[in-house]
Amino acid sequence: MTSGLTLAFGYHQQRGLEDWRQSGCLYVEFWCLGPGCNHMERVHIEKLIGKAKTSTPFVELACKARCSACGRWGCHVQPADPPKPEHRDYAIWLMAEIARRKDFILLAEAELRGMDNA
Ligand SMILES: [Zn+2]
Repeated sequence: MTSGLTLAFGYHQQRGLEDWRQSGCLYVEFWCLGPGCNHMERVHIEKLIGKAKTSTPFVELACKARCSACGRWGCHVQPADPPKPEHRDYAIWLMAEIARRKDFILLAEAELRGMDNA
């Protein structure tokens, strides 16, 4: 059995868009797999959530996406790296990360206390 706490460590065990958002993902990258194309589009996760269900997995987005450069259907979808300090969303991302990690520390400490008492 896996602990829910492992979600706080980053990009794994995510199933849908809401899981990705809650784990700190701000942007999603769509990579075209068309021969010789290599087009990539970065989309804000809020924009995706506005169009798809919060439970939509990346693989479903990948199947439905169409490249705006070559017109090919289907692509590779992955979370973008966190914003860099010069990016306009950096402060928002940083505040969310701080809140998420504080929550993790509180839950982890409670879990450890529970282990000591077992
Ligand atoms: Zn393409």
